[in-house]
Amino acid sequence: METTCICGDPETSKNHSFGAVSVPIYQTATFAHPGIGESTGHNYTRESNPTRDELEKTVSALEGAVDTVACTSGMAAISLMMELFDSGSHFVCTEDLYGGSVRIFEALEKKRGFSFSYINTADVEAVEKAITDQTKALYIETPSNPTMQVTDLAEMSRLATKHGLLLIVDNTFLSPYLQNPIAQGADLVVHSGTKFLGGHNDTLAGFLCTPIKALAEQIRYLFKTIGSGLSPFDSFLVLRGIKTLSVRVERQQENAMKIASWLKEQKKVTDVYYVGLPEHPGYEINQKQSRGAGSMISFRTDTEETARKVLERVKLISYAESLGGVESLITYPMLQTHGDVPVEIRERLGITETFLRLSVGIENVDDLIADLEQALA
Ligand SMILES: *Cc1c(COP(=O)(O)O)cnc(C)c1O
Repeated sequence: METTCICGDPETSKNHSFGAVSVPIYQTATFAHPGIGESTGHNYTRESNPTRDELEKTVSALEGAVDTVACTSGMAAISLMMELFDSGSHFVCTEDLYGGSVRIFEALEKKRGFSFSYINTADVEAVEKAITDQTKALYIETPSNPTMQVTDLAEMSRLATKHGLLLIVDNTFLSPYLQNPIAQGADLVVHSGTKFLGGHNDTLAGFLCTPIKALAEQIRYLFKTIGSGLSPFDSFLVLRGIKTLSVRVERQQENAMKIASWLKEQKKVTDVYYVGLPEHPGYEINQKQSRGAGSMISFRTDTEETARKVLERVKLISYAESLGGVESLITYPMLQTHGDVPVEIRERLGITETFLRLSVGIENVDDLIADLEQALA
């Protein structure tokens, strides 16, 4: 995995012109044809570009996919993926999905006659009960965002096979360094490349990966038709980010474990949700299907006042949306990432005024704890 982060697909990454070690940025919209009916392998950047191509091959290698498309954002990858389905399709989804996914699903429900059942997918029986004749796919996030529920991917794959459904996994939270859903039976994997893969909070990107050739062909056709492709420069930035994915994620989760353990001891913190804590209800399943717990922690404070104080007082940690980068960020899911999730769903999940989500970066962990300590005081 560490080696794949550095050289992705060696056939591509070790054969740059002039022996360039770093991928050149092919900042060109179009490619000249050597002759009539001939191509250099690239014709027009909407369809393909060598810099983006190298990024896509790297992500395919990391996820064990036959093909990956690199899109302008995670949401662009998700909306491209939804073009694979006909109107009338029904989906069974993890109930606490990324807020942007819920927003696009609601729009598709109104405009395209799709329907969605939001289920606690940690409960395998509940998932099976929700499947109807119209169901086309299971859409899973594990650990989920922001309440960190863990779904058993092997069980989801069993259900998908039994009922003839596609298994789709949003693997943003653990990144391919820690979890490979395709190896557990997923047919489609989506990523917000903005998060761990890019890793530096400096660019948006998204990926859609598949191990199935026929699906890959459909996706490529939609991709070039719609124009979802990531720019050459952003492709370069994400490739550069991926080179350090392994060391970043290792340090981030080491820091996260220390912070989660520290948070548990704080008087003003009532609950800590981190899948690396052995008492987390999904701990064992996560251990079985991944190589780590990642660096996302949610926690609940005693009062709304404490939660607001934390957001206003943090100095080193930024009060900002997003996650997975080298800088630690804290958010208020109720107002931000999940602001558009219907109130009933939000309340049922416990995404309330005392609920905070922390993305742990690679700063010195004692400095991070000191920052949280003064903010909670
Ligand atoms: C951020 C995020 C997305 C959306 O990705 P963008 O790059 O912001 O468009 C999708 N899923 C999850 C789990 C995310 O965290």
